[in-house]
Amino acid sequence: MKVLKFGGTSVANPENIIKVKSIVQRSPDEKSAVVVSAFGGITDVLLNTLEQAANQDLSYQKGLEEIEKRHISVIKELLPVQRQSTILSKVKSDLNILETLLEGAFLIGEITPKLSDKVVSYGELLSSFIISEFFKSEGVDAIFKDSRELILTDNAYGKAAVNFKVTNQNCGDYFNESKHQIHVLPGFVASNSDGNSTTLGRGGSDYTAAIIAAAVNASILEIWTDVSGMYTANPKLVKQAKCVAHISYEEAMELSHFGAKVLYPPTIQPVLGKEIPIVIKNTFSPEDEGTLITKNTNGGGKTVRGISHVGNISLLSLEGPGMIGIPGISKRFFETLSVDGISVVLITQASSEHSICVGISDDDVKRATAAVNEAFEYEIARKKINPVIVEQDLTIVALVGDNMKSHQGLSGKMFSTLGRNNVNIRAIAQGASERNISAVIKKTDVKKALNSLHEEFFEENIKQLNLFVMGVGNVGSKFLTQILQQQTYLKEELKLNIRVIGMSNSRNMVFDENGINLKDWETTIAGGEKADKVKFFEKVKTLNFRNSVFVDNTASKEVAQGYPDYLKNSISVVTCNKIACSSDYDFYRELKQLAKKYNAPFLFETNVGAGLPIIDTLKNLIASGDKVKKIQAVLSGSLNFVFNNFNDQVTFHDIVKQAQEEGYTEPDPTIDLSGIDVMRKILILARESGNKLDIEQIENDAFLPKESLETNSNEAFFASLVKHEDGFQEMYKSARDEDSKLKYVAQFENGKAKVGLQQIPKGHDFYNLEGSDNIVLFFTERYPNQPMIIKGAGAGADVTASGIFADIIRIGNF
Ligand code: ADP
Ligand code: ASP
Ligand code: MG
Repeated sequence: MKVLKFGGTSVANPENIIKVKSIVQRSPDEKSAVVVSAFGGITDVLLNTLEQAANQDLSYQKGLEEIEKRHISVIKELLPVQRQSTILSKVKSDLNILETLLEGAFLIGEITPKLSDKVVSYGELLSSFIISEFFKSEGVDAIFKDSRELILTDNAYGKAAVNFKVTNQNCGDYFNESKHQIHVLPGFVASNSDGNSTTLGRGGSDYTAAIIAAAVNASILEIWTDVSGMYTANPKLVKQAKCVAHISYEEAMELSHFGAKVLYPPTIQPVLGKEIPIVIKNTFSPEDEGTLITKNTNGGGKTVRGISHVGNISLLSLEGPGMIGIPGISKRFFETLSVDGISVVLITQASSEHSICVGISDDDVKRATAAVNEAFEYEIARKKINPVIVEQDLTIVALVGDNMKSHQGLSGKMFSTLGRNNVNIRAIAQGASERNISAVIKKTDVKKALNSLHEEFFEENIKQLNLFVMGVGNVGSKFLTQILQQQTYLKEELKLNIRVIGMSNSRNMVFDENGINLKDWETTIAGGEKADKVKFFEKVKTLNFRNSVFVDNTASKEVAQGYPDYLKNSISVVTCNKIACSSDYDFYRELKQLAKKYNAPFLFETNVGAGLPIIDTLKNLIASGDKVKKIQAVLSGSLNFVFNNFNDQVTFHDIVKQAQEEGYTEPDPTIDLSGIDVMRKILILARESGNKLDIEQIENDAFLPKESLETNSNEAFFASLVKHEDGFQEMYKSARDEDSKLKYVAQFENGKAKVGLQQIPKGHDFYNLEGSDNIVLFFTERYPNQPMIIKGAGAGADVTASGIFADIIRIGNF
């Protein structure tokens, strides 16, 4: 004989019930017990309706109507008309009793546990009856059997304890004698010795099936649900979770105890001793293998088999100087909780002589606090022990696996993964069986914690980076194109899954938790909501994705001022915007420190030399113990363009105009021609070499006449260039006569930086610099005479985008 159990979703509607029938008929020669849950969602509706009634809220009648409608519509759809009337009359008579019970609660204004169990039992009683009638009408040799006649419990309504002796006898007798093939039974419900309905706890239909399976020595217990087995983590929260093919009873028990709802925790107990295999299968995909649960497995060679979590946890701590050396405090503490029927989900290792800390359900907090404070009233009054400290809104995450005990370093890996993702750990516990390690964390961090742990322990290879891109203009759009192009390569070769979750330009912003499709992001953003920097940040923060990266492709001061908010939430920042690193020194320091403190890289490689690896090289030199003595560099693509094209055959005005038109300068060309842009870049290099420097301390040997610098419109600026053409021609001739070229050079030495136009003689490293190329010479202790040289294209949207990309990959490898 075999036992099958179908959960709420599996029997939620006629379409699903038809699927159930075909599954049940798969083994026509074997006797079977088919245990069913209430139609999906009905248990909750019943409980809410009862509560409304007891609160004297008349809307309970709506709940009742909904319950009636759901059941009657299933009958009307599944059963032939000629059979409907008898079934409808039985169902209606049950619904009448239910109505009377609810009216009773309404009048008395109170719910007793006994009444609650009576009311909620109708969910399973109705579903099982209707399903059995449907089976019969389809010619299946089926019969309805009320589980309350088989399963006997004590009086602990809501979660009654089974009297196995009587129950086993009842089940054995009944199934032995029955000549039918299929027996449909309500899950969850039982009765006590007074004949009153009791229930086995939420999710208890699994348990009903296991009790029957053990009683009749079934060949197998099949749990049919809405997922294809027990997964490495809850598949609703972790998309990458995978079905575990084979798992041991103990592992399954541990996972379900820590929240894997797919199996109600007590379910394993009855079948474990008899070694009846359990298989978890998907009603909606019956061909999937599912998960087999048996005695021993070799763990598939794996240490961690699954990650689960239990929400709504509170930590209760008792501490105080009077606890040291006084025996029996823990005993009194645990006894107090136990007498009040409060179950302790977790005891932390932090329990030491002067502090005890336990995890309990949020629902029990009030009672537990009152009880413990009362029990230690004497000590609290004398200040020997402090009143109980309560922390709420917590969740336990647990790693589970039989083989974990023989492996060191798992907890270290677990905690460093959580730490790296800024998940604060409130308490830690390791099960005595060493089959689990659990951590108590904030409720709001659950999704991130599960996904990062899953990535660490099950996806070993693929790391997901979640990008939030602000600025999708020139550079930003190139960047998105590059990601799209490289996505497959990065996944396959670098094991990086890069997704853009949010993006914004100055008008609109959009978010897609599954990743924005980069093939038509322009249309997506055009249909987005109104851009708002504060809301953008708030959204990134509430999404709370692991490995989040904020990418700033703007040149906005306001955006740069938001970086601390991102870093403080462990969101990395990658930027080509120079403002943050070249403004106030304290702000730059603060950003560097926040990055360190919150484990969130702050990278800005493109601030100097676009895609050239200048800052990264500098960092590596310093990290390896080298010291920078001098930096010499040509860092302005725009000024290079201007001086490479300027001669006595053209005017300075025309060349600058051309540079502006071809996009080599900022829209306001004075930013480049005044040397400010170069000052910012040498400032950043000086700071990155370990110097405290501000922009005002940099000497700027400006070559533009004061008048040109002080113009306040582009028009006036260009007019002043025409006026001073003679001066520019003189600069050119003087260089040419010396066989030199004009280059705008930045230099840093002995703590001082300066920028200015220089005549560079033939043979110098700078002489042959083409187009908009940049060059940097690092003179260091290790490179005293022959500097380390980095040279190449130092401007342009494409190379800047690729520099940002490189920073993202650095974070991926972090
Ligand atoms: P049923 O109504 O069939 O008893 P449940 O809702 O009680 O179904 O249990 C199935 C649900 O358990 C899944 O839909 C899934 O959301 C949840 N779940 C939590 N953890 C896990 C896990 N590790 N593996 C599979 N499912 C899980
Ligand atoms: N219907 C009950 C519940 O929702 C029992 C079950 O489905 O297992 O808790
Ligand atoms: Mg369930």
